[in-house]
Amino acid sequence: MLSELTCQEVSEAVDKWQDRARQWLMDMIACESVQGNEQEVVKLAKDIWDQEIGVPAEYSEIPESIVDDPEYTHNENECPYEGRYNVVVNAGGHGQGHSIIVQSHLDVVPAGGWEEAFTPKYVDGWVWGRGATDCKGPCVMLMLAQAALEELGVKLAGRVQHQYVIEEEVGGNGALALIRQGHTAEAAVISEGTNLNVFPANRGAVWFKLRTFGKSMHMGRRIEGVNAIEKMMEALHWILEYEKVLVEESRNYPLFERYEAPVQVCIGMIHAGSWPSQIPDECTVEGGVGFLPNKNIEQVKQEVRDWINKSDDEWLKSHYELTFDKLHNDAFACDPNHPAVQYLHKAALECDIPSEIFGWNVSCDARLYAKLLNIPTMVFGPSDLAYGHSSNERIEWRQVVQGAKAMALYLARWCGTV
Ligand SMILES: [Zn+2]
Repeated sequence: MLSELTCQEVSEAVDKWQDRARQWLMDMIACESVQGNEQEVVKLAKDIWDQEIGVPAEYSEIPESIVDDPEYTHNENECPYEGRYNVVVNAGGHGQGHSIIVQSHLDVVPAGGWEEAFTPKYVDGWVWGRGATDCKGPCVMLMLAQAALEELGVKLAGRVQHQYVIEEEVGGNGALALIRQGHTAEAAVISEGTNLNVFPANRGAVWFKLRTFGKSMHMGRRIEGVNAIEKMMEALHWILEYEKVLVEESRNYPLFERYEAPVQVCIGMIHAGSWPSQIPDECTVEGGVGFLPNKNIEQVKQEVRDWINKSDDEWLKSHYELTFDKLHNDAFACDPNHPAVQYLHKAALECDIPSEIFGWNVSCDARLYAKLLNIPTMVFGPSDLAYGHSSNERIEWRQVVQGAKAMALYLARWCGTV
């Protein structure tokens, strides 16, 4: 049955809980949950569900074999998964209704020299600290929404599964584990800082590593050598030519029209040579390509290679190596008119949030749900991503509260009530 719940009722219940919820956020920020050190915040999240909200949470183990998954993202600081869990909470499911996964992540990026990063404070309506925006604020928004529904005694017909994952910041391995363990639903909302806009599409990004090889020689006999840096210059010329085409082909792509440059090539790192008067025999560049859902990741990889091969430098074409071993986030786009998207947007508007539906020029865990589960997936959450990963990370508490009201209303509408 379609829920009769009003924004007014939901607001009162959220307001009743909001001081406690702000304390949850402060306590979560105080946990330095960088990669490999998530145990404390994971336990805290579970305790909040078990002891305060009153809906039991479970730890979900991540198998070590996840590293062999083709969608796994390798990174510099990989460490064993023993004792490092995701948290899963099943709520609702009291009758016949649509199911949904709501998800956010508990891991954060390091302090980066910010001394106050894990000393949360609340000043003039803003909560400060590492993870306030990315993504402990969004986590608390989801918790607060459910707490309000419990407060009101709302029995959701469809099931809502809350997932609080780790390793989002290194590519989404926590979310991947839950997906591989068979968790699914009819739709998914991934909570990140979208300023409470609804993003049913995300840009993709893939990192590349390009190595060119030459022939080392003393400077005085330069013409007998082959300079790997010069070969790299030739290769990069073609990669930047590719960028122009990529930009052109992606212009006015639906949901991304508002961005001036949603796709790009970034030449991020370069390394070559060891002596000023020696011709270097190797040069390495690492970079990234950002792309829209008009291309899939395999296509982008192939196109980078094809463009390097457009060079008529025969040495280069037989002396380079191009690999894509690190970040590999596919782009995705779901139908913005799907009811799961529309209901969320309507709930936000009903709660007086100036929310819009468009694509996000960033990538997060959402693409895994869209691609591997093939379900309507959207990103929605309080705050602006610009505050994330910075040394003045903060979140406007009011946005968490507003977002929780919209989310509670949405869950009642989408899942139905009994
Ligand atoms: Zn995040």
